[in-house]
Amino acid sequence: MKIAVAKGDGIGPEIMEAVLSIFKASKIPLEYEFVDMGKWVFDKGFSNGMTPEAQKSIETLGILFKGPMETPKGKGVKSVNVTARKTWNTYANKRVFQTLHGVDTVFSKAGIPIDVTIVRENIEDTYGGIEHMLTHDVALSRRFITRPGSLQVIRYAFEMAKKKNAKRITCGHKANIMKITDGLFLECFYEVAKEYPELKADDVIVDDLCMKLVTRPDLFDVVVLTNLQGDIVSDLCAGLVGGLGFAPSANIGDHICIFEAVHGTAPDIAGKNIANPTALLLSGLTMLRHLGFMEHAATIENALLYTLENGIHTGDFGDKSIPSVNTTVFAEAIVNNFGKLPQHGVKPSLPNMPVTPTHFILDKNPLIMTKEMEEEKIVGVDLFIESAEQPMAVAEKALQHTGDLFKLVTISNRGTQVWPKGSIFTNIVNQYRCRFESLGDEPRTQVDILELTKLMSVDFKVCSYELLNMWGDKKAYSLAQGQ
Ligand code: NAD
Repeated sequence: MKIAVAKGDGIGPEIMEAVLSIFKASKIPLEYEFVDMGKWVFDKGFSNGMTPEAQKSIETLGILFKGPMETPKGKGVKSVNVTARKTWNTYANKRVFQTLHGVDTVFSKAGIPIDVTIVRENIEDTYGGIEHMLTHDVALSRRFITRPGSLQVIRYAFEMAKKKNAKRITCGHKANIMKITDGLFLECFYEVAKEYPELKADDVIVDDLCMKLVTRPDLFDVVVLTNLQGDIVSDLCAGLVGGLGFAPSANIGDHICIFEAVHGTAPDIAGKNIANPTALLLSGLTMLRHLGFMEHAATIENALLYTLENGIHTGDFGDKSIPSVNTTVFAEAIVNNFGKLPQHGVKPSLPNMPVTPTHFILDKNPLIMTKEMEEEKIVGVDLFIESAEQPMAVAEKALQHTGDLFKLVTISNRGTQVWPKGSIFTNIVNQYRCRFESLGDEPRTQVDILELTKLMSVDFKVCSYELLNMWGDKKAYSLAQGQ
Protein backbone atom coordinates (compact mmCIF):
# COMPACT_ATOMS: atom_id res chain seq x y z
CA MET A 1 0.00 0.00 0.00
CA LYS A 2 1.33 3.43 -0.94
CA ILE A 3 0.46 6.78 0.66
CA ALA A 4 1.43 10.39 -0.07
CA VAL A 5 3.64 12.10 2.50
CA ALA A 6 4.28 15.84 2.76
CA LYS A 7 6.95 16.65 5.32
CA GLY A 8 5.79 20.22 5.87
CA ASP A 9 7.63 23.31 7.06
CA GLY A 10 9.43 24.31 10.27
CA ILE A 11 9.60 21.29 12.59
CA GLY A 12 7.61 19.26 10.01
CA PRO A 13 10.58 17.39 8.41
CA GLU A 14 12.10 16.56 11.84
CA ILE A 15 8.95 15.11 13.39
CA MET A 16 7.97 13.34 10.14
CA GLU A 17 11.40 11.67 9.98
CA ALA A 18 10.99 10.54 13.60
CA VAL A 19 7.52 9.08 12.97
CA LEU A 20 8.51 7.33 9.73
CA SER A 21 11.52 5.79 11.52
CA ILE A 22 9.11 4.28 14.06
CA PHE A 23 6.86 2.99 11.24
CA LYS A 24 9.90 1.48 9.50
CA ALA A 25 11.06 -0.27 12.69
CA SER A 26 7.61 -1.81 13.13
CA LYS A 27 7.84 -3.22 9.57
CA ILE A 28 4.53 -1.83 8.34
CA PRO A 29 4.19 -2.75 4.66
CA LEU A 30 3.67 0.87 3.60
CA GLU A 31 5.38 2.74 0.79
CA TYR A 32 5.66 6.52 0.68
CA GLU A 33 5.49 8.97 -2.19
CA PHE A 34 6.91 12.29 -0.97
CA VAL A 35 4.96 15.24 -2.40
CA ASP A 36 5.74 18.96 -2.61
CA MET A 37 3.42 21.12 -0.49
CA GLY A 38 3.95 24.07 1.83
CA LYS A 39 5.72 27.39 2.10
CA TRP A 40 8.51 26.85 -0.41
CA VAL A 41 5.94 25.68 -2.98
CA PHE A 42 4.02 28.96 -2.52
CA ASP A 43 7.35 30.79 -2.88
CA LYS A 44 7.94 29.02 -6.22
CA GLY A 45 4.69 30.56 -7.49
CA PHE A 46 2.11 27.80 -6.95
CA SER A 47 -0.74 29.84 -5.47
CA ASN A 48 -2.49 26.89 -3.78
CA GLY A 49 0.69 25.72 -2.02
CA MET A 50 1.04 22.43 -3.86
CA THR A 51 2.52 21.37 -7.18
CA PRO A 52 0.21 19.82 -9.82
CA GLU A 53 2.24 16.59 -9.43
CA ALA A 54 1.55 16.58 -5.67
CA GLN A 55 -2.18 17.08 -6.29
CA LYS A 56 -2.20 14.23 -8.82
CA SER A 57 -0.33 11.84 -6.49
CA ILE A 58 -2.63 12.58 -3.55
CA GLU A 59 -5.74 12.17 -5.71
CA THR A 60 -4.44 8.84 -7.01
CA LEU A 61 -3.27 7.44 -3.67
CA GLY A 62 -6.18 8.73 -1.54
CA ILE A 63 -4.19 9.13 1.70
CA LEU A 64 -2.08 12.14 2.68
CA PHE A 65 0.09 12.07 5.82
CA LYS A 66 1.30 15.61 6.35
CA GLY A 67 3.48 17.71 8.62
CA PRO A 68 2.44 21.23 9.61
CA MET A 69 2.68 23.86 6.87
CA GLU A 70 3.16 27.59 6.85
CA THR A 71 1.07 29.93 4.76
CA PRO A 72 3.05 33.00 3.58
CA LYS A 73 1.59 36.13 5.14
CA GLY A 74 0.59 39.26 3.23
CA LYS A 75 0.56 37.59 -0.20
CA GLY A 76 -3.21 37.08 -0.31
CA VAL A 77 -2.84 33.31 -0.60
CA LYS A 78 -5.11 30.86 1.23
CA SER A 79 -3.85 28.32 3.78
CA VAL A 80 -2.76 25.12 2.02
CA ASN A 81 -4.09 23.18 5.03
CA VAL A 82 -7.60 24.55 4.56
CA THR A 83 -7.38 24.29 0.75
CA ALA A 84 -6.51 20.59 1.05
CA ARG A 85 -9.42 19.88 3.44
CA LYS A 86 -11.89 21.72 1.21
CA THR A 87 -10.65 20.62 -2.20
CA TRP A 88 -10.88 16.98 -1.26
CA ASN A 89 -14.11 17.27 0.72
CA THR A 90 -12.77 15.80 3.94
CA TYR A 91 -16.10 16.26 5.62
CA ALA A 92 -15.29 14.76 9.01
CA ASN A 93 -12.55 15.92 11.34
CA LYS A 94 -11.82 13.23 13.90
CA ARG A 95 -9.71 14.05 16.93
CA VAL A 96 -8.94 11.52 19.66
CA PHE A 97 -8.09 12.75 23.15
CA GLN A 98 -6.77 10.23 25.66
CA THR A 99 -5.06 10.40 29.03
CA LEU A 100 -1.35 9.78 28.43
CA HIS A 101 0.49 8.79 31.60
CA GLY A 102 3.67 10.82 31.87
CA VAL A 103 1.79 13.87 30.55
CA ASP A 104 0.60 15.59 33.70
CA THR A 105 -2.82 17.24 33.70
CA VAL A 106 -5.26 18.01 36.50
CA PHE A 107 -7.26 14.95 35.46
CA SER A 108 -4.31 12.55 35.33
CA LYS A 109 -3.31 13.75 38.82
CA ALA A 110 -6.88 13.19 40.03
CA GLY A 111 -6.96 9.71 38.50
CA ILE A 112 -9.82 10.59 36.11
CA PRO A 113 -9.23 8.80 32.78
CA ILE A 114 -10.13 10.57 29.54
CA ASP A 115 -10.90 8.87 26.25
CA VAL A 116 -13.02 11.21 24.13
CA THR A 117 -13.28 11.30 20.34
CA ILE A 118 -14.61 14.50 18.79
CA VAL A 119 -16.04 14.32 15.28
CA ARG A 120 -16.43 17.77 13.81
CA GLU A 121 -18.20 18.59 10.55
CA ASN A 122 -15.41 20.04 8.43
CA ILE A 123 -16.93 21.84 5.41
CA GLU A 124 -20.14 23.70 6.21
CA ASP A 125 -21.38 26.15 8.84
CA THR A 126 -19.87 29.64 8.82
CA TYR A 127 -16.64 28.13 7.42
CA GLY A 128 -17.95 28.58 3.88
CA GLY A 129 -16.65 32.11 4.52
CA ILE A 130 -19.69 33.65 2.80
CA GLU A 131 -19.66 37.06 4.43
CA HIS A 132 -20.89 40.47 3.37
CA MET A 133 -20.99 43.99 4.73
CA LEU A 134 -24.71 44.79 4.32
CA THR A 135 -24.26 48.38 5.40
CA HIS A 136 -21.13 50.13 6.68
CA ASP A 137 -22.21 49.08 10.17
CA VAL A 138 -23.61 45.59 9.61
CA ALA A 139 -21.71 42.45 8.67
CA LEU A 140 -23.46 39.22 7.74
CA SER A 141 -22.11 35.68 7.73
CA ARG A 142 -24.15 32.93 6.12
CA ARG A 143 -24.29 29.69 8.02
CA PHE A 144 -25.06 26.68 5.88
CA ILE A 145 -26.07 23.44 7.54
CA THR A 146 -27.22 20.94 4.94
CA ARG A 147 -29.10 17.71 5.36
CA PRO A 148 -26.79 15.61 3.12
CA GLY A 149 -23.67 17.17 4.69
CA SER A 150 -24.94 16.53 8.23
CA LEU A 151 -26.01 12.97 7.45
CA GLN A 152 -22.59 12.25 5.93
CA VAL A 153 -20.57 13.34 8.97
CA ILE A 154 -23.02 11.91 11.51
CA ARG A 155 -23.08 8.56 9.75
CA TYR A 156 -19.26 8.53 9.80
CA ALA A 157 -19.33 9.29 13.57
CA PHE A 158 -21.74 6.41 14.29
CA GLU A 159 -19.78 3.97 12.14
CA MET A 160 -16.53 5.01 13.83
CA ALA A 161 -18.14 4.74 17.30
CA LYS A 162 -19.29 1.22 16.47
CA LYS A 163 -15.78 0.18 15.34
CA LYS A 164 -14.33 1.73 18.51
CA ASN A 165 -16.77 -0.28 20.65
CA ALA A 166 -18.04 3.02 22.08
CA LYS A 167 -20.95 2.90 24.50
CA ARG A 168 -22.24 6.42 24.05
CA ILE A 169 -22.46 8.93 21.21
CA THR A 170 -23.48 12.51 21.94
CA CYS A 171 -24.57 15.32 19.63
CA GLY A 172 -23.38 18.76 20.78
CA HIS A 173 -25.56 21.58 19.43
CA LYS A 174 -27.32 24.88 20.03
CA ALA A 175 -30.71 23.89 18.63
CA ASN A 176 -32.50 25.70 21.45
CA ILE A 177 -31.44 28.99 19.80
CA MET A 178 -30.61 28.09 16.20
CA LYS A 179 -33.72 26.00 15.77
CA ILE A 180 -33.50 25.66 12.00
CA THR A 181 -29.76 25.14 11.39
CA ASP A 182 -28.72 23.26 14.52
CA GLY A 183 -32.23 21.81 14.63
CA LEU A 184 -31.57 20.17 11.24
CA PHE A 185 -28.24 18.75 12.45
CA LEU A 186 -29.90 17.33 15.57
CA GLU A 187 -32.77 15.87 13.53
CA CYS A 188 -30.23 14.12 11.26
CA PHE A 189 -28.39 12.81 14.35
CA TYR A 190 -31.49 11.04 15.71
CA GLU A 191 -32.41 9.82 12.23
CA VAL A 192 -29.04 8.05 11.90
CA ALA A 193 -29.18 6.89 15.56
CA LYS A 194 -32.13 4.63 14.63
CA GLU A 195 -29.74 2.57 12.48
CA TYR A 196 -27.43 1.94 15.51
CA PRO A 197 -29.66 0.72 18.36
CA GLU A 198 -26.63 -0.78 20.14
CA LEU A 199 -25.21 2.72 20.80
CA LYS A 200 -26.64 5.04 23.46
CA ALA A 201 -27.33 8.24 21.51
CA ASP A 202 -28.08 11.49 23.34
CA ASP A 203 -27.63 15.22 22.90
CA VAL A 204 -26.28 18.06 25.02
CA ILE A 205 -26.47 21.82 24.40
CA VAL A 206 -22.94 22.95 23.56
CA ASP A 207 -22.42 25.35 26.48
CA ASP A 208 -23.56 22.68 28.93
CA LEU A 209 -21.31 20.21 27.06
CA CYS A 210 -18.26 22.45 27.67
CA MET A 211 -19.08 22.66 31.36
CA LYS A 212 -19.56 18.90 31.61
CA LEU A 213 -16.37 18.15 29.65
CA VAL A 214 -14.22 20.15 32.06
CA THR A 215 -15.87 18.64 35.14
CA ARG A 216 -16.56 15.01 34.12
CA PRO A 217 -14.75 14.30 30.81
CA ASP A 218 -14.81 10.59 31.65
CA LEU A 219 -18.58 10.50 31.02
CA PHE A 220 -18.13 11.15 27.29
CA ASP A 221 -17.12 8.75 24.58
CA VAL A 222 -17.83 10.04 21.03
CA VAL A 223 -19.16 13.57 20.46
CA VAL A 224 -20.28 14.89 17.06
CA LEU A 225 -20.73 18.61 16.37
CA THR A 226 -21.12 21.20 13.64
CA ASN A 227 -17.98 22.94 12.36
CA LEU A 228 -17.49 26.02 14.56
CA GLN A 229 -18.73 24.45 17.77
CA GLY A 230 -16.62 21.36 17.01
CA ASP A 231 -13.55 23.53 16.41
CA ILE A 232 -13.87 25.13 19.84
CA VAL A 233 -14.84 21.97 21.72
CA SER A 234 -11.96 19.97 20.22
CA ASP A 235 -9.37 22.50 21.39
CA LEU A 236 -11.01 22.44 24.80
CA CYS A 237 -10.49 18.66 24.84
CA ALA A 238 -6.85 19.10 23.72
CA GLY A 239 -6.37 21.20 26.86
CA LEU A 240 -7.83 18.39 29.01
CA VAL A 241 -5.14 15.90 27.93
CA GLY A 242 -2.08 18.15 27.94
CA GLY A 243 -2.32 20.62 25.06
CA LEU A 244 -1.87 20.72 21.29
CA GLY A 245 1.40 18.73 21.48
CA PHE A 246 -0.77 15.66 22.11
CA ALA A 247 -3.61 16.39 19.71
CA PRO A 248 -3.86 14.27 16.55
CA SER A 249 -6.26 15.00 13.74
CA ALA A 250 -7.75 13.01 10.88
CA ASN A 251 -9.67 14.68 8.08
CA ILE A 252 -11.87 12.02 6.58
CA GLY A 253 -13.44 12.10 3.12
CA ASP A 254 -14.89 9.38 0.92
CA HIS A 255 -12.12 9.76 -1.62
CA ILE A 256 -9.17 11.29 0.23
CA CYS A 257 -8.19 11.36 3.92
CA ILE A 258 -5.61 13.67 5.46
CA PHE A 259 -3.80 12.83 8.72
CA GLU A 260 -1.89 15.58 10.52
CA ALA A 261 -1.03 16.99 13.94
CA VAL A 262 -3.10 19.93 15.16
CA HIS A 263 -0.10 22.10 16.07
CA GLY A 264 1.74 24.39 13.64
CA THR A 265 5.30 24.60 12.31
CA ALA A 266 6.80 25.88 15.61
CA PRO A 267 9.30 28.20 13.83
CA ASP A 268 10.86 29.10 17.21
CA ILE A 269 12.33 25.59 17.62
CA ALA A 270 12.61 24.47 13.97
CA GLY A 271 15.89 22.84 12.90
CA LYS A 272 17.00 22.08 16.48
CA ASN A 273 15.79 18.44 16.63
CA ILE A 274 13.99 19.13 19.93
CA ALA A 275 10.31 19.08 18.77
CA ASN A 276 7.84 16.61 20.23
CA PRO A 277 6.68 14.13 17.54
CA THR A 278 3.84 12.66 19.70
CA ALA A 279 0.92 14.49 18.05
CA LEU A 280 2.09 13.49 14.56
CA LEU A 281 2.69 9.93 15.76
CA LEU A 282 -0.84 9.79 17.24
CA SER A 283 -2.19 11.08 13.90
CA GLY A 284 -0.14 8.36 12.19
CA LEU A 285 -1.71 5.75 14.50
CA THR A 286 -5.19 6.95 13.51
CA MET A 287 -4.07 6.58 9.89
CA LEU A 288 -2.71 3.05 10.43
CA ARG A 289 -6.00 2.00 12.02
CA HIS A 290 -7.93 3.64 9.19
CA LEU A 291 -5.86 1.58 6.74
CA GLY A 292 -6.44 -1.61 8.70
CA PHE A 293 -2.94 -2.00 10.24
CA MET A 294 -4.43 -2.70 13.67
CA GLU A 295 -1.62 -4.83 15.10
CA HIS A 296 1.14 -2.42 14.07
CA ALA A 297 -0.85 0.48 15.53
CA ALA A 298 -1.37 -1.35 18.84
CA THR A 299 2.35 -2.24 19.13
CA ILE A 300 3.44 1.34 18.47
CA GLU A 301 0.80 2.87 20.75
CA ASN A 302 1.69 0.53 23.61
CA ALA A 303 5.36 1.42 23.18
CA LEU A 304 4.56 5.15 23.10
CA LEU A 305 2.46 4.91 26.29
CA TYR A 306 5.14 2.82 28.01
CA THR A 307 7.80 5.38 27.01
CA LEU A 308 5.72 8.30 28.34
CA GLU A 309 4.94 6.42 31.55
CA ASN A 310 8.66 5.93 32.14
CA GLY A 311 9.21 9.67 32.12
CA ILE A 312 11.01 9.93 28.77
CA HIS A 313 10.07 13.28 27.30
CA THR A 314 11.06 16.08 24.95
CA GLY A 315 11.63 19.55 26.38
CA ASP A 316 8.06 20.82 26.02
CA PHE A 317 6.42 18.52 28.61
CA GLY A 318 6.96 16.02 31.40
CA ASP A 319 8.82 15.92 34.69
CA LYS A 320 11.40 18.71 34.63
CA SER A 321 13.56 16.86 37.18
CA ILE A 322 14.26 14.23 34.49
CA PRO A 323 16.47 15.57 31.65
CA SER A 324 14.66 15.85 28.33
CA VAL A 325 15.74 14.00 25.19
CA ASN A 326 15.78 15.19 21.59
CA THR A 327 13.35 14.19 18.83
CA THR A 328 15.52 11.37 17.48
CA VAL A 329 16.24 9.84 20.90
CA PHE A 330 12.54 10.04 21.82
CA ALA A 331 11.65 8.10 18.64
CA GLU A 332 14.42 5.55 19.34
CA ALA A 333 13.09 5.04 22.88
CA ILE A 334 9.68 4.18 21.45
CA VAL A 335 11.21 1.66 19.04
CA ASN A 336 13.23 0.12 21.90
CA ASN A 337 10.00 -0.30 23.84
CA PHE A 338 8.20 -2.30 21.14
CA GLY A 339 6.58 -5.28 22.86
CA LYS A 340 6.22 -3.51 26.23
CA LEU A 341 2.81 -2.77 27.75
CA PRO A 342 1.85 0.36 29.67
CA GLN A 343 0.79 -0.17 33.27
CA HIS A 344 -1.84 2.57 33.45
CA GLY A 345 -4.71 4.06 31.55
CA VAL A 346 -6.25 3.06 28.26
CA LYS A 347 -4.71 -0.11 26.83
CA PRO A 348 -4.74 -0.14 23.04
CA SER A 349 -6.37 -3.33 21.95
CA LEU A 350 -7.31 -5.03 18.74
CA PRO A 351 -10.88 -4.54 17.58
CA ASN A 352 -13.28 -7.45 17.86
CA MET A 353 -14.36 -7.25 14.25
CA PRO A 354 -12.53 -7.44 10.93
CA VAL A 355 -11.49 -4.03 9.65
CA THR A 356 -11.27 -3.10 6.04
CA PRO A 357 -9.73 0.07 4.62
CA THR A 358 -12.49 2.63 4.32
CA HIS A 359 -11.28 4.86 1.52
CA PHE A 360 -12.80 4.42 -1.91
CA ILE A 361 -13.21 6.41 -5.06
CA LEU A 362 -16.55 8.15 -5.55
CA ASP A 363 -18.62 7.11 -8.53
CA LYS A 364 -21.31 9.73 -7.97
CA ASN A 365 -21.81 12.82 -5.84
CA PRO A 366 -23.72 11.58 -2.80
CA LEU A 367 -24.69 15.08 -1.69
CA ILE A 368 -27.14 15.66 -4.53
CA MET A 369 -30.18 14.33 -2.78
CA THR A 370 -33.36 15.67 -1.37
CA LYS A 371 -35.69 14.69 1.38
CA GLU A 372 -39.10 13.39 0.36
CA MET A 373 -40.99 16.02 -1.62
CA GLU A 374 -43.60 18.03 0.22
CA GLU A 375 -46.05 20.59 -1.03
CA GLU A 376 -43.86 23.67 -1.32
CA LYS A 377 -45.05 27.27 -1.60
CA ILE A 378 -43.60 30.76 -1.28
CA VAL A 379 -45.60 32.63 1.36
CA GLY A 380 -43.56 35.80 1.71
CA VAL A 381 -40.14 37.38 1.87
CA ASP A 382 -37.69 38.90 4.33
CA LEU A 383 -36.24 42.06 2.80
CA PHE A 384 -33.04 43.28 4.48
CA ILE A 385 -32.86 47.04 4.01
CA GLU A 386 -30.49 49.82 4.99
CA SER A 387 -32.03 52.66 6.98
CA ALA A 388 -30.93 54.94 9.81
CA GLU A 389 -34.53 55.95 10.55
CA GLN A 390 -36.68 54.97 13.53
CA PRO A 391 -38.73 51.73 13.18
CA MET A 392 -42.05 53.65 12.93
CA ALA A 393 -40.72 55.70 10.01
CA VAL A 394 -39.47 52.55 8.26
CA ALA A 395 -42.85 50.87 8.78
CA GLU A 396 -44.77 53.88 7.43
CA LYS A 397 -42.82 53.74 4.15
CA ALA A 398 -42.87 49.95 3.88
CA LEU A 399 -46.63 49.79 4.44
CA GLN A 400 -47.15 51.87 1.29
CA HIS A 401 -45.67 49.09 -0.85
CA THR A 402 -47.58 46.03 0.33
CA GLY A 403 -50.26 46.30 -2.44
CA ASP A 404 -52.94 43.60 -2.77
CA LEU A 405 -50.63 40.64 -2.36
CA PHE A 406 -48.66 41.17 0.84
CA LYS A 407 -48.98 42.39 4.42
CA LEU A 408 -46.13 43.74 6.51
CA VAL A 409 -46.06 41.53 9.63
CA THR A 410 -42.91 42.43 11.50
CA ILE A 411 -39.77 44.53 11.37
CA SER A 412 -36.74 43.37 13.29
CA ASN A 413 -33.28 44.72 13.95
CA ARG A 414 -30.45 42.28 14.63
CA GLY A 415 -33.13 39.57 14.98
CA THR A 416 -35.23 41.40 17.61
CA GLN A 417 -38.69 42.67 16.72
CA VAL A 418 -38.96 46.48 16.78
CA TRP A 419 -42.34 46.86 14.97
CA PRO A 420 -45.36 46.57 15.43
CA LYS A 421 -44.31 46.06 19.04
CA GLY A 422 -40.93 46.40 20.66
CA SER A 423 -39.05 47.93 23.53
CA ILE A 424 -37.65 51.45 23.66
CA PHE A 425 -34.58 49.85 25.23
CA THR A 426 -33.67 47.79 22.13
CA ASN A 427 -30.51 49.16 20.56
CA ILE A 428 -30.80 49.40 16.80
CA VAL A 429 -28.31 49.48 13.94
CA ASN A 430 -28.86 50.85 10.44
CA GLN A 431 -30.18 47.64 8.97
CA TYR A 432 -33.68 46.23 9.29
CA ARG A 433 -35.42 43.07 8.24
CA CYS A 434 -38.94 43.72 6.92
CA ARG A 435 -41.03 40.57 6.81
CA PHE A 436 -43.82 40.52 4.24
CA GLU A 437 -46.27 37.62 4.24
CA SER A 438 -48.82 36.85 1.56
CA LEU A 439 -52.40 37.93 2.19
CA GLY A 440 -54.72 35.01 2.89
CA ASP A 441 -51.72 32.62 2.93
CA GLU A 442 -51.97 32.43 -0.86
CA PRO A 443 -48.86 31.11 -2.62
CA ARG A 444 -46.83 33.82 -4.34
CA THR A 445 -44.41 33.67 -7.24
CA GLN A 446 -40.82 34.86 -7.45
CA VAL A 447 -42.02 37.60 -9.82
CA ASP A 448 -44.39 38.87 -7.08
CA ILE A 449 -41.41 39.02 -4.71
CA LEU A 450 -39.26 40.88 -7.23
CA GLU A 451 -42.08 43.42 -7.82
CA LEU A 452 -42.30 44.06 -4.08
CA THR A 453 -38.50 44.39 -3.88
CA LYS A 454 -38.60 46.92 -6.75
CA LEU A 455 -41.22 49.02 -4.93
CA MET A 456 -39.26 48.92 -1.66
CA SER A 457 -36.08 49.96 -3.48
CA VAL A 458 -37.74 53.34 -4.18
CA ASP A 459 -37.45 54.18 -0.46
CA PHE A 460 -34.61 51.96 0.72
CA LYS A 461 -31.43 50.24 -0.38
CA VAL A 462 -32.40 46.55 -0.36
CA CYS A 463 -29.28 44.69 0.79
CA SER A 464 -30.54 41.14 0.35
CA TYR A 465 -33.63 39.01 0.56
CA GLU A 466 -34.71 35.55 1.64
CA LEU A 467 -37.85 33.79 0.51
CA LEU A 468 -40.28 32.52 3.13
CA ASN A 469 -41.09 28.94 2.15
CA MET A 470 -43.75 26.62 3.52
CA TRP A 471 -43.17 22.88 3.20
CA GLY A 472 -46.52 21.23 3.82
CA ASP A 473 -47.71 22.89 7.02
CA LYS A 474 -44.16 23.55 8.26
CA LYS A 475 -42.59 27.02 8.14
CA ALA A 476 -39.08 26.76 6.65
CA TYR A 477 -38.00 29.96 8.44
CA SER A 478 -37.65 31.22 11.98
CA LEU A 479 -39.71 33.85 13.80
CA ALA A 480 -38.16 37.13 14.90
CA GLN A 481 -37.32 37.37 18.62
CA GLY A 482 -40.51 38.73 20.20
CA GLN A 483 -42.71 38.11 17.11
P1 NAD B 1 2.55 26.48 16.64
O1 NAD B 1 1.68 25.34 17.00
O2 NAD B 1 3.50 26.27 15.50
O3 NAD B 1 3.44 26.92 17.92
C1 NAD B 1 2.89 27.35 19.17
C2 NAD B 1 3.87 27.01 20.30
O4 NAD B 1 3.86 25.60 20.54
C3 NAD B 1 5.33 27.39 19.99
O5 NAD B 1 5.95 27.83 21.16
C4 NAD B 1 5.94 26.07 19.53
O6 NAD B 1 7.33 25.98 19.80
C5 NAD B 1 5.17 25.05 20.37
N1 NAD B 1 5.02 23.77 19.66
C6 NAD B 1 4.16 23.48 18.64
N2 NAD B 1 4.32 22.22 18.24
C7 NAD B 1 5.29 21.68 19.00
C8 NAD B 1 5.91 20.41 19.05
N3 NAD B 1 5.53 19.40 18.23
N4 NAD B 1 6.89 20.20 19.96
C9 NAD B 1 7.25 21.18 20.81
N5 NAD B 1 6.72 22.41 20.82
C10 NAD B 1 5.75 22.67 19.92
O7 NAD B 1 1.59 27.71 16.35
P2 NAD B 1 1.92 29.13 15.69
O8 NAD B 1 3.24 29.65 16.18
O9 NAD B 1 0.69 29.93 15.91
O10 NAD B 1 2.01 28.86 14.13
C11 NAD B 1 3.24 28.74 13.41
C12 NAD B 1 2.94 28.45 11.94
O11 NAD B 1 2.27 27.20 11.80
C13 NAD B 1 2.04 29.49 11.25
O12 NAD B 1 2.59 29.75 9.97
C14 NAD B 1 0.71 28.78 11.11
O13 NAD B 1 -0.02 29.23 10.00
C15 NAD B 1 1.14 27.34 10.92
N6 NAD B 1 0.11 26.37 11.33
C16 NAD B 1 -0.04 25.27 10.54
C17 NAD B 1 -0.95 24.28 10.90
C18 NAD B 1 -1.10 23.06 10.02
O14 NAD B 1 -0.25 22.82 9.18
N7 NAD B 1 -2.15 22.25 10.18
C19 NAD B 1 -1.72 24.41 12.07
C20 NAD B 1 -1.52 25.54 12.87
C21 NAD B 1 -0.60 26.51 12.50
